[in-house]
Amino acid sequence: MEYATVESTYDMMHAALKDVVPEFELRYKAELAFEINQLKEKIGAVILGHNYMEPALYHSVPDFKGDSLELSRRAADTDKGTIVFCGVRFMAETAKILSPEKTVLIPSARAGCSLAASITGEDVRELKKQYPGVPVVTYINCYADVKAETDICCTSSNAAAVVESLNSDTVIFLPDEYLAQNVARETGRHIIFPVKDPRQASPEETNLQYTMIGWRGRCEVHEKFTVEDITNVRKQFPDVVVLAHPECSPEVVEASDYSGSTSAMIKFVKDTKAPRYLLLTECSMGDNIIAENPEKDMLRLCSVRCPHMNEITLEQTRDALKFNRYEVDVPEEIRVKAKRAVDRMIQIS
Ligand code: SF4
Repeated sequence: MEYATVESTYDMMHAALKDVVPEFELRYKAELAFEINQLKEKIGAVILGHNYMEPALYHSVPDFKGDSLELSRRAADTDKGTIVFCGVRFMAETAKILSPEKTVLIPSARAGCSLAASITGEDVRELKKQYPGVPVVTYINCYADVKAETDICCTSSNAAAVVESLNSDTVIFLPDEYLAQNVARETGRHIIFPVKDPRQASPEETNLQYTMIGWRGRCEVHEKFTVEDITNVRKQFPDVVVLAHPECSPEVVEASDYSGSTSAMIKFVKDTKAPRYLLLTECSMGDNIIAENPEKDMLRLCSVRCPHMNEITLEQTRDALKFNRYEVDVPEEIRVKAKRAVDRMIQIS
């Protein structure tokens, strides 16, 4: 019972986080974590912690840690009636899609996402009218109304396999521009980004030799990394191994040594022995990996946190349990259609 008292909670957190979180902060956060774990037991809740949560939260209260789909699937398998999703809203919606009978809470009502907000269900309906009969693949990082209009979902780790599983000459791939370009390159497809007014289309876009149709949505964190960042770091540390999330631009992915989902990057660092690593993804994940692998050397390039992930704090998580807030719901008609797209992906995984 490592979290049985405030002191034992502090000891656990201190062992993992002494080099990552300042001492005065650890003391205060251990008290909060203890309170949260008491409330969680009392209510019968399960807490999910996305890989981008801040280190003190990530290493104290989640029952499960990982990427969004993996977490939603694990929560669905528990007998707990309440899920608290420490992540952003589209992730909590995915948990609700898979566990309609459970109460799903998100600690902050403001935890959105620039990528998910780039597209609506109505946009997808319009695209389907424009390209009738073309199958629609959507990245899991979107809201339920978009998933509901989709033939099949994908994650950043299985996106190319999902596209290829469709055996279709042309595929609509939404909403991440860079992930779509990375998948197009991996699967040898030509990609276009349609414009609403055909008169504004470039000659390339009116050429029908395309096989993938994308959308200009972006993650506001991953779009910040540049090839210049990598070049500068390599000049100073020629032996660095660079890992880029596939939401980074194709040029950045090309200039990196490895590209993979958050879970794949964590596994890569654990399983390899490099003199040092540079992660091109949300800042907290580097700290979380170091806390679990203190012998590894991680360069810290970024100072930018995802503002949406940053909304989720230990205080907000405690209040979610205390006041049963903020409940995430998905209308049943949308949920059933969205679940079909998620299930279809799970079947081919
Ligand atoms: S890191 Fe990017 S994709 Fe993830 S929640 Fe933040 S803005 Fe959205």
